[in-house]
Amino acid sequence: MIHPISFIKNKPELCEFVLEHGLYGFLIWDTNLGMVYPSEIAIRSMGLSPHQSFPAACILNHSGYLLDSDYKPNDSFFGRICFDPSESAGFPFRFFSKVFKEAGKPYRILALDAAIESKDRNQTPIIQSEMEFKSVSRLLDQMANLAKIGGWDLDLRTGKANWTNVTKRIHEVGDDFNPSIESGLQFYHSEESRNKIAKAVNSLLEQGIEYDLELEMVTAKGNQTWVRTIGRAEYENQKIVKIYGIIQDINDRKKWEMALASQTAILWSFVEHAPAAVAMLDQDMRYVALSQRWIDDYKITLSKEEIIGKSHYEIFPNIGDDWKTIHSRGLSGEVLRCDEDIWRPPGWEKDQVIQWEIRPWNLLSGGVGGILMFTRDITESYETKLELKHAKEVAEKSYNAKSEFLANMSHEIRTPLNGIIGYSDLLAETLVDTAFNEYAQIVKQSAHTLLNIVNDILDFSKAEAGKLQLAEEPNDLKVVILESIRIMDIQAITKGLDIRLDLDHTIPLTLMFDANRLRQVMLNLIGNALKFTEVGFIECKLEGLASPNEKEVLVRISVKDSGIGIAKENQKKIFDSFTQEDFSTTRKFGGTGLGLAICRQLLKLMKSDLKLESELGKGSEFYFDIPFRIPEFDASLSSDPSLSVKEVQPGWNQEADTSLVKVLVVEDNLVNMGLMKNFIKRIVTNVKILEAENGEEAITVFQKEQPNLILMDIQMPVKNGYDATVAIRNLTEGKDVPIVAVTAGIIAGEKEKCFAVGMNDYLSKPVQKESLKQILLKWLDESNSRIKTK
Ligand code: ADP
Repeated sequence: MIHPISFIKNKPELCEFVLEHGLYGFLIWDTNLGMVYPSEIAIRSMGLSPHQSFPAACILNHSGYLLDSDYKPNDSFFGRICFDPSESAGFPFRFFSKVFKEAGKPYRILALDAAIESKDRNQTPIIQSEMEFKSVSRLLDQMANLAKIGGWDLDLRTGKANWTNVTKRIHEVGDDFNPSIESGLQFYHSEESRNKIAKAVNSLLEQGIEYDLELEMVTAKGNQTWVRTIGRAEYENQKIVKIYGIIQDINDRKKWEMALASQTAILWSFVEHAPAAVAMLDQDMRYVALSQRWIDDYKITLSKEEIIGKSHYEIFPNIGDDWKTIHSRGLSGEVLRCDEDIWRPPGWEKDQVIQWEIRPWNLLSGGVGGILMFTRDITESYETKLELKHAKEVAEKSYNAKSEFLANMSHEIRTPLNGIIGYSDLLAETLVDTAFNEYAQIVKQSAHTLLNIVNDILDFSKAEAGKLQLAEEPNDLKVVILESIRIMDIQAITKGLDIRLDLDHTIPLTLMFDANRLRQVMLNLIGNALKFTEVGFIECKLEGLASPNEKEVLVRISVKDSGIGIAKENQKKIFDSFTQEDFSTTRKFGGTGLGLAICRQLLKLMKSDLKLESELGKGSEFYFDIPFRIPEFDASLSSDPSLSVKEVQPGWNQEADTSLVKVLVVEDNLVNMGLMKNFIKRIVTNVKILEAENGEEAITVFQKEQPNLILMDIQMPVKNGYDATVAIRNLTEGKDVPIVAVTAGIIAGEKEKCFAVGMNDYLSKPVQKESLKQILLKWLDESNSRIKTK
């Protein structure tokens, strides 16, 4: 415990300190132990007995914290002396504090400068109001700081101006800045801001007119910022004696406002100038925004500004209930659209066709704010579309007429050709070993050439009319290519040319495709190569390419030759129908210019396209990449020859029965009838041929004779082949007789129709002896008759 007298002795500054501030006594405070000595007056001013003992720490600062060694107040602070720190009351004083040393140890001397409260409240009003003022002004300071609001004033009597700390911070000037009207105005750089503030300050000074402005200024450090500044006047005896105001940093808000304003402006100009009629409406169908096109398209007589805020139904009073329903569906969140809406606006002379879309727009806070309507007047393009459609129909009709004419002509030519080919065949066979055989051969050859041309025209017109169909079946690709080469081989050998084959063995053997049509393409390309090559080679190549997926293989098929080649400028046009490289080609090589056009059409059906690489004088290469489907394996489709019908048929190898086999030929054309009879007799020796000129006759003959097989023409007078078949099938004895259609096969779907009415097979005209033989063997055998063949 220190002794107070020895502590004070020889410490004049301590005495001075106590005398000056210790109106209500003083305390000695050990930074470790707390209060160690209260002076007599201090005890009394607290109304205590002199022998009261004090707890170690009993002084609280103004914030209610215990005064401890860490507390380093200024020389004065407000606080309380509490004998029980848990009790928040105690005696409030203003303290003066100073540290003095005794025997090397620091002690804090706390002078009780003024009592803030006492039993007689009136005793200390100033202290109390001073404290209140301090705390209020501190609060104000904090608020001003937070709100970035500074204050200023100018006393006109003294000419002295004041800026608060925040004002100085907003202007980014030092604490020593000397404010005045002039120096204040310097911060406004832009002409607009400077003019505004100068005018406002002038009116304030002269007429006391208040101002409240948002201005752009540049701080002392050169930063651009936005402030709101308010100025007011203070009067004394109706004279302005002082002006004062606040200044607030609103840069952040202003930046947001400006960004928002520019976004809104962009949005507005977008909507306004959108090359479409757009309108935005709120939940009550009042206009929020709209484009100029909206006004123009709907011939609205009001201006945009007049429309905004008005209801859509006020602008269009005649609007129908159907539209109102659409609007309310949009307002409840649905998106609706129509691509061609035809209506007649009131007062219009013709229909208007519009395309429209209505979709809801959402509020930031969620929920539908209204609808966006978009409409487009497509009357003109709709009318053009109708005209085009009509023109297309007319063109298609005349095109179809042309195709039909070509198809009919070809058919008409094919029928007599049938006779020529068949009989020249028979003639050549009859005239073997005579000089006439050669003539017969020439007739046959020419007829075949003619038939090829007619077939080409037929194919082409079918393709043009979209009537070409593919019959995709599992086929061996290599076999089909080899067959094509074999057919052309004789011509190649005659010309001294060699047809090479280059196969890629990674390509699967069996693939799905129409063998006849692919063969036709190959024959055409190889035929051309042979035609236009005198020396060198022809090469067919199969090359597997990277496949698009597991179910398909992509194969490049090419036919290359070392022939005359094709000039660059002609390479495109040769693919067109009826076009050759130049006119001399026809004279020199013949041909119709249809071959490549047909190849291209066929390949298109096979999802491929014909390509060409060629150099004049060096040769040409025609190639195409074709995607083949890999067939899914199905045991029932197995083509294992050991399972073939013929081999398992009982009695096939047995002694043939010598009884006569009856074949009924139904055919209206006498030449074809004769030809058919001739062929049949040459194939089957024990045959009795029955004849019928039309379907009606066929039924009668069938009922009388019960033939083993019927060869049925389709197009016949009186009753056609389909109807005759249906009638025969309706007879009890006609259920199982094999009926084979014999037809020119130019009409799409004909084959299917034959099967649908109950025929068993199909034979194409012109009938070739070999194919007829296959049919006879198959059906006469299958119907268990006994036939003898040559
Ligand atoms: P066509 O052979 O019946 O005249 P195509 O359509 O098959 O009709 O051929 C059109 C033309 O393309 C031919 O006339 C010929 O000028 C040219 N051409 C076709 N293939 C070859 C080829 N391999 N070499 C040179 N020219 C060819």
